[in-house]
Amino acid sequence: MSSENKKKPEEKSAQFTMPAPLSNLEIKYTKIFINNEWHDSVSGKKIPVFNPATGEKISEVEEGDKEDVEKAVKAAREAFQLGSPWRRMDASERGKLLNKLADLMERDALILSTIESIDAGKTFVSSFFADIPGAVKSLRYCAGWADKNQGRTVPMDGDYFTFTRHEPVGVCGQIIPWNFPLVMFAWKIAPALCCGNTVVMKPAEQTPLSALYMGSLIKEAGIPPGVVNIVPGFGPTAGAAIAYHMDINKVAFTGSTEVGKIIKEAAGKSNLKRVTLELGGKSPNIIFADADLDSAIEQSHHGLFYHQGQCCVAGSRIFVEESIYDEFVRRSVEKAKKRVLGDPLAPGTQQGPQIDKEQYDRILDLIESGKKEGAKLECGGSAWGNKGFFIEPTVFSDVKDDMRIATEEIFGPVQQIMKFKTVDEVIKRANNTTYGLAAAVFTKDIDKAMTVSTALEAGTVWINCYSAMSPQAPFGGFKMSGNGREMGEYGLHEYTEVKTVTMKIPQKNS
Ligand code: NAP
Ligand code: MG
Repeated sequence: MSSENKKKPEEKSAQFTMPAPLSNLEIKYTKIFINNEWHDSVSGKKIPVFNPATGEKISEVEEGDKEDVEKAVKAAREAFQLGSPWRRMDASERGKLLNKLADLMERDALILSTIESIDAGKTFVSSFFADIPGAVKSLRYCAGWADKNQGRTVPMDGDYFTFTRHEPVGVCGQIIPWNFPLVMFAWKIAPALCCGNTVVMKPAEQTPLSALYMGSLIKEAGIPPGVVNIVPGFGPTAGAAIAYHMDINKVAFTGSTEVGKIIKEAAGKSNLKRVTLELGGKSPNIIFADADLDSAIEQSHHGLFYHQGQCCVAGSRIFVEESIYDEFVRRSVEKAKKRVLGDPLAPGTQQGPQIDKEQYDRILDLIESGKKEGAKLECGGSAWGNKGFFIEPTVFSDVKDDMRIATEEIFGPVQQIMKFKTVDEVIKRANNTTYGLAAAVFTKDIDKAMTVSTALEAGTVWINCYSAMSPQAPFGGFKMSGNGREMGEYGLHEYTEVKTVTMKIPQKNS
């Protein structure tokens, strides 16, 4: 999910002296963050944290559970009380605090990038040049909105003066995944805080370290106690406690469609809290014969293999027009074979490990299914190296729409290339999925671009580009890829309650 999209991280690094990751990184923050203080878990349990590139344990963090979520919600509720420092704070001041937090992230960019790299298996280059700047931009974007999220006056019938206020929703539970730990952290807290809410955040059990480091920066920035609380823990325990909580007003979730359903059900079974969901995808990427082929191949490669294919928007169903199909496959395979795998901290590495054994096994199983179901394995197809969770860049051609590799989200470095003949056919096939997160079309024909982009059922459609994202643009899914939008002005609506206030206007002779 590169937000710095004009150039890829590898290209950017070539322009600057490459900063080195910290070799002596000390992991300082491993406890539960409530009320701007560090707490042990009530149960006394801890979660081991592993480096997916080596399989080695790098730390352990306190394991939050229901009782810890309870403490965090109490703190968040207290911070949200009318008259509290947070509720009385000027909106412009909230913006200042978000900007201050962004400044601190920039100051500590090397620490954050190194943490992100060893905890999430991200290449250091992509952490430093894409994730950190992307998270910082999201904070600054929302900082600018803090004092601009204004209501309206309404021409009510009768002798009334009516206006709307945009008020915060309240205590927001936020549950994030492991693929973009820092970017997701920023995408969640930035709109919540800019609108005046308070937060209870659960990072993914695999990647809690950057979120906890952010806790220290939140305190240093001067954000009042209780406004952001961070509870590392597991989904079915700490996550479920958030989803079912009777005193949480909204939950924002990013992750699998399967868990998204559980979250909505939990909201329905508890207090009908507001729910926004950013779920998976099986995004179609359509290449017409008249496209700029060099660019289409490059973008399709990056749109799938970026961050080991662990992107919700991964363009994992590539539909290529018949006449250029063979060339597209041949050149895509050449590119995939050239990818440099290895230590994510080393300069020049393009592909690191998958996040954990579960994902690694799942991806290898899907690759096997592709072979068995008759797709043509063009390259890769196996595990790589002798430690960590690496998988070879894999390309399948002759993929049929009903194969598992063409229907299930793989979340790995596995590219599916299909063939099509006509516009109508490809639109139908592209939309034949329960997902609707992203889609792309490559063509020089503006009519085709408009016809196809209008017909595609997806929250984001790219024309002649892929994965182009930045905080100004709303992001979210059609169909089972989610509910609601994140970032952009639309994203603010999800963190705002609209209050209609109507005042009687006394009439002169009444
Ligand atoms: P996941 O289970 O949906 O995890 C996302 C977050 O939800 C994590 O913080 C997780 O906690 C939490 N969670 C899990 N079960 C929960 C429950 N019952 N109640 C509340 N919260 C719960 O995703 P995953 O297992 O990491 O990955 C599985 C698949 O999801 C991937 O293969 C991929 O297809 C998809 N995925 C999509 C995205 C995306 O960006 N849309 C991101 C990651 C994964 P834990 O830390 O305990 O897991
Ligand atoms: Mg899970």
